[in-house]
Amino acid sequence: MEIISSYLPSAGIGYKFPSIKLNPMTFLQMTRYMEDTKDLSPIERYFYDIRMLVDEDHNILNCYIMDLDFLIYYKKLISVSGNTTLTISVQCPSCGTVVKRDIDFEKDIKFEAIDEKIMNGAQINLGGKKYEICVPTVQNLLKVFDVFKRYSRVNDLKMMKTLALFEDFDTKSQEIEKDVLGATREDITLLLALQELYFDRVEPIKAICPKCDKERRGMAISVNALVVDFFQSLTLNSKFDGTKIVFK
Ligand SMILES: [Zn+2]
Repeated sequence: MEIISSYLPSAGIGYKFPSIKLNPMTFLQMTRYMEDTKDLSPIERYFYDIRMLVDEDHNILNCYIMDLDFLIYYKKLISVSGNTTLTISVQCPSCGTVVKRDIDFEKDIKFEAIDEKIMNGAQINLGGKKYEICVPTVQNLLKVFDVFKRYSRVNDLKMMKTLALFEDFDTKSQEIEKDVLGATREDITLLLALQELYFDRVEPIKAICPKCDKERRGMAISVNALVVDFFQSLTLNSKFDGTKIVFK
């Protein structure tokens, strides 16, 4: 199938291709996927997903990071379509109670469209220094991953995505990593805001906390939980649909 670029969270702003090819996994691919990714770290699993998408359409390399997350999620969704509800746990932002909630991947999960202004990048002040922030493409992310594998002290997907937002990461990787990892107080708030703006683009889902009032509040589920752990949580938490099996 083809996904029209303008339907992507970035609205395809600046893309030179009108659509992206994306197909559901075959049974063979899915079996292989489960086997191959079983022992991988979240970062490695994420890059396994990227390679799978790039094999199908090379233009993925030029997609922005928020579209990448959406496409990874969407590929998995259409691969298991018909079995798209799952019980997840979310934490109440007020009292910290863990609330169980059934979500429908098709109806409840919405990737927010991004503001054109945000796509143009920004300037931030971190650790007393000025940095340029840009929206990384998949290609940029792969470069950061390369540096990460060789030098980095951290092994965290969200942190890696955050570092990829810095335009000069190529040339100043150590300096930037030091400033990001060592961030304190208002700099932490700044980094969290960047993450929310640039890649945690899923609308909070509504859930009721039994301990607080009856007020419905939105609780955030992270993109990584959707993208990286999709099949893992699905197989752990869902009963597969056996209605198509007719017993003799
Ligand atoms: Zn609560």
